Amino acid sequence: MSHSEIGLIGLGTMGSALALNIAEKGFDIVVFNRTTSITHAFAKSAGVLADRISPTDSLADFVAAIKVPRIVILMVPAGDPVDEQIAALAELIGPDDLIIDAGNGNFHDTNRRMRSIMSPFLGIGVSGGEEGARNGPAIMGGGPNAHWERAAHILTAISAKFGDIACADWMGEEGAGHFVKAAHNGIEYADMQLIAESYGLMRDGLGMDAAQIADVFLEWNKGPLKSYLVEISGKVASVVDEATNAPLLDVIVDAAGQKGTGRWTAIEAQHLAAPIPVIEAAVVARNLSARRDERAEMEKLFGTGPKAINPDDLPLAVMEQAMICGKILCYDQGFRMIRAASDQFDWNLQSPAIARVWREGCIIRSAMLDDMASAFTEDPQRSLMAAPFFSAQIAKTHDALRKVVATAAMHGIAVPAHAAALAYFDAMRTARGTANMIQGQRDFFGLHGFARLDDGTTGNHGPWAN
Ligand code: NDP
Repeated sequence: MSHSEIGLIGLGTMGSALALNIAEKGFDIVVFNRTTSITHAFAKSAGVLADRISPTDSLADFVAAIKVPRIVILMVPAGDPVDEQIAALAELIGPDDLIIDAGNGNFHDTNRRMRSIMSPFLGIGVSGGEEGARNGPAIMGGGPNAHWERAAHILTAISAKFGDIACADWMGEEGAGHFVKAAHNGIEYADMQLIAESYGLMRDGLGMDAAQIADVFLEWNKGPLKSYLVEISGKVASVVDEATNAPLLDVIVDAAGQKGTGRWTAIEAQHLAAPIPVIEAAVVARNLSARRDERAEMEKLFGTGPKAINPDDLPLAVMEQAMICGKILCYDQGFRMIRAASDQFDWNLQSPAIARVWREGCIIRSAMLDDMASAFTEDPQRSLMAAPFFSAQIAKTHDALRKVVATAAMHGIAVPAHAAALAYFDAMRTARGTANMIQGQRDFFGLHGFARLDDGTTGNHGPWAN
């Protein structure tokens, strides 16, 4: 019996697309799924790729069909299913066989598995949804570099390409790959929220219909905001619902779903004391969106506010500039958080490599990420805000961000991600902040002590301590 180069467990949305991608790139692959009928349906539907795909009905057959030392990809839901599959595989595989968790694992779980599993183990983040998995995702690897090297020829072959550069790379030890993927998803939440807020300003403030809004997004997609998310937002806004003949957007319920990776990012940022207010605002906005009944009740109580904005007061070009500024500030926060995690966990994460991997294949892919990769390549330690290319852009656009936030506030339209970006910008460019008052308060009620500006001494107290 000939043995396949790699095996994959979990033929759901992502696993089946990834298996076809692997087969298409010329690798023989064995597949296994908990529900056997799905395995066979998948193999049947593989068309010309079926020759490279071996469906198996038991885990023992699956393991036996992979070339030793084996490489096994898990594409099952994060959490217990991953632990269960690892436990089941442990009975059957050899000491050199490599298990790769390619789902959205929580990096703390990946760290734990890295320490507790006897087999070689990698945690990789795969981004790009089903389409990406099928035709080329962005791949963020974590775990021992030697293990990454064993699978790198397959992972780079199946990944998206920016020019001829593979958007797959080793990020660092332990759960670094899953951490970078979570940060990616947090940024994805923020990018989506900034777009949704612009949509809200156009719909509720400027009274534009979905088709007009679609045109704006498609226009913005030709400029600095060129990105997958702006592009698909234009496409979503342009669709007419067949059942009602109304714009599809107008019949979609305004409650956003989430699987938790944005929330993980926000929680982790708090643990790291790394401020990511734009991402946090986006997570909060999704949570608020789910409270539809309460929002309807409050609207009855307070009314909707003076929503209509005179188009002369908020030109579309100003909104575009504001989004550019908000986006740069959001990524500044995201990359600073990644650096904080790198220091905390001793991962030596490389900002240029991360920006390069995100340029294609993943949901946040955008023209701006190429500029970010260049900025970090010039100086990996410098923040985006301080990089000349981006500081010039911020200097050009922060007035527009202020205009959007102020106008939205005056017209009762919530733009929490824009507002968070503006507050971050104003806080970051204020050398003398207001935490001296906080320190005074803390010393007053808790004798926590404060540092003095004049002589640099610490542990000082105010007269209330006497
Ligand atoms: P699906 O729900 O489409 O598929 C899940 C797969 O896992 C199915 O094959 C299912 O088998 C199997 N499975 C579920 N529970 C168990 C279990 N307890 N033991 C063994 N197998 C199990 O999920 P996705 O393909 O969407 O997601 C897979 C992973 O990829 C997740 O971690 C997800 O977060 C991540 N991901 C998803 C993306 C997306 O866009 N969908 C994007 C990036 C990452 P069965 O057929 O028997 O139910």
